[in-house]
Amino acid sequence: MSGNIRTAAGVYRQFIDGEWVDNQTGTSFPVYEPATEEVMARVMEADSADVDRAVRAARRAFDSGPWPLKTPQDRAQILFKLAAKVRAELPKLAEIEALNSGKPIVEAEGDIGAVAEIFEYYGGLATKIPGMVNPVSANALSLSLREPVGVAGLIVPWNYPLLMASWKLAPAIAAGCTMVLKPAEQTPLTALMLADWFEEAGLPPGVVNVINGYGESCGAPLVEHPMVDKIAFTGSTEVGKAITRSAADTLKRVTLELGGKSPNIFFADADWEASVDGALFGVFINQGEVCSAGSRILVEKKIYSRFVEAMAEKAKTIKLGPPMDRASKMGPVVSKDQYDRVQSYLAIGKTEAKVASGGGRPKEFDKGYYIEPTIFYDVDNSARIAREEIFGPVATVIAFEDEGDAIRIANDTPYGLAAAVWSRDIYRAFRVVKSLRAGIVWVNHMQPTCTEAPWGGYKQSGVGRELGPWGVEEYLETKQVYINLDEKPIGWY
Ligand code: ADP
Repeated sequence: MSGNIRTAAGVYRQFIDGEWVDNQTGTSFPVYEPATEEVMARVMEADSADVDRAVRAARRAFDSGPWPLKTPQDRAQILFKLAAKVRAELPKLAEIEALNSGKPIVEAEGDIGAVAEIFEYYGGLATKIPGMVNPVSANALSLSLREPVGVAGLIVPWNYPLLMASWKLAPAIAAGCTMVLKPAEQTPLTALMLADWFEEAGLPPGVVNVINGYGESCGAPLVEHPMVDKIAFTGSTEVGKAITRSAADTLKRVTLELGGKSPNIFFADADWEASVDGALFGVFINQGEVCSAGSRILVEKKIYSRFVEAMAEKAKTIKLGPPMDRASKMGPVVSKDQYDRVQSYLAIGKTEAKVASGGGRPKEFDKGYYIEPTIFYDVDNSARIAREEIFGPVATVIAFEDEGDAIRIANDTPYGLAAAVWSRDIYRAFRVVKSLRAGIVWVNHMQPTCTEAPWGGYKQSGVGRELGPWGVEEYLETKQVYINLDEKPIGWY
C-alpha cells in the first residue's frame, strides 16, 4: 500500500486524477467497527467541491489523454491485473470488509473472491463488445457502433461494499467509461484499498476516482453534476427515487438496483430439510442485509405450523458472533442507525404478528449491534413488516391456501427484485416461475448469484440489469453510422 493513502494523522485521503489528495475543507468522518462500536478509521469527507474536482478529472480522462486510445485488449489486461491483485490480497480485504461491515469472515472471503471473478469476467467481455452491420439500402453501409456512455457516477451501499462497487467498476471499465465511485459512508475502506492498486494495474489517472462522503452532501452533487453522463446506483428505493428525480434535470442515464420484499414460497411437497434451511438462509444470510433477502416466507397451509416450528427450532442454533470468528454465521448489523431501525421494526412486528423466535438483542453481547434472527408468524401480507424493507435479520411467515393464493400474495408488493419457489412438482414450480413479477427467480434454492446471469428488479426494485453481458450494456451508447455508397446520392435539385 502506498504511503500516501493516509495523512500523517492516519486519515484516509481521496483518490482523484491518479493521486491521493486532501479534501478541500479538511473535514473527516469516523468509520466504525460494528462488533465493538469503536472507530476503526477516519476518512476525508468529500463535499460538492471535491465532487466537482473528481468529476472534472473523469471528464478530462474521458475526453483526452491515454484512455480513449486504449484498446479493448488494454482494458481487458487492466481488469485481469485488478482481479489478480484482489486475489493476492484477499485475506486482508476480507478482514477489513468483515470488521467494517460486521459480516462473518467466511462470507467476506466469499464476497472478495466474487470481486476477483467479476473483474475477470468483464476482462473477458471487454474484447467481446461488437457493433453490427445493419441491413439497409443497397446504396449504403449502415453500422451500429457501441461506444462508452461517458463519465459514470457510481454510488454503492454498505452491505456488500467492494462487491457492489465491482459490479459497477468492472463493466464501466470494460466499456471504456471513466468514473467517480462513491462508496457508502459506513464502509469506505476496501474501495480505497483497491484504488491504491489502480496505477499498478495500468489505469491512467482520472479513469477511476474514489471519493467518500454522505448521501446528501456527496452523493447528491454527483447526481446533479452536468459533466456526469450516467448514474449507477444500488441502495434504498427511497434514495433511488430521489436520484431519478434529480437526474431528470440533466437527463442522465440511470440504472438502479433497489430494495425488495422478496417472497420465498414453500409448497408441501418440497424437500423438508432443504426447505427449512432455504427459508432461514434466504433471510438471515449477511444478517438479512441483502436486497434480495427472502423476507416474506410463504408456506402452504397444510405444513405451515410444523414449518414455523422447525424454522424457529433451527434459528435458535444460528451462531451469532464476532466477524473474525470462523464459526460465526451472523455478525452485528452494520451501524447504530441500522440497529435502531431494525429494533423499531421488531417493536412494530410485535403489534402486528406473533414471534416464533428471536425478537431482540442477544443477551450474550454487551456491545456490538447484534440482533437475534427473528421470525414473525401469522403475518398478514398487509402488515408493515410484510410490506416494508427492513434490511435486517427479520423474517415474516405467511400462510397460503393453494398455488393461486401463493402467486397473489407473492406479487402483492410494490417490489419485484427476487423470488423463490420450492416444490418437487416441476409443472407447478415452472407455472409459478412464469407468474412471479420479479427480476430473479430461484427454484429450490435462494440467493445464489451468478456473475454471468442478469441481476435487477421489476417494479419498484429497480431499472436496468447488472452482471453478465447485460451489465456492460448499461455503460454503452449505440451510434448509428450511415455510409453512402452512391456517388450522386441526393439528386434533388
Ligand atoms: P441504505 O438505506 O442501505 O443506507 P441508501 O440508499 O441510504 O441505502 O444509501 C446507499 C448509497 O446512496 C450510499 O452510498 C449513500 O451515501 C448514498 N446516498 C444516500 N442519499 C443519497 C442522495 N440523496 N443522493 C445520492 N446518493 C445518496
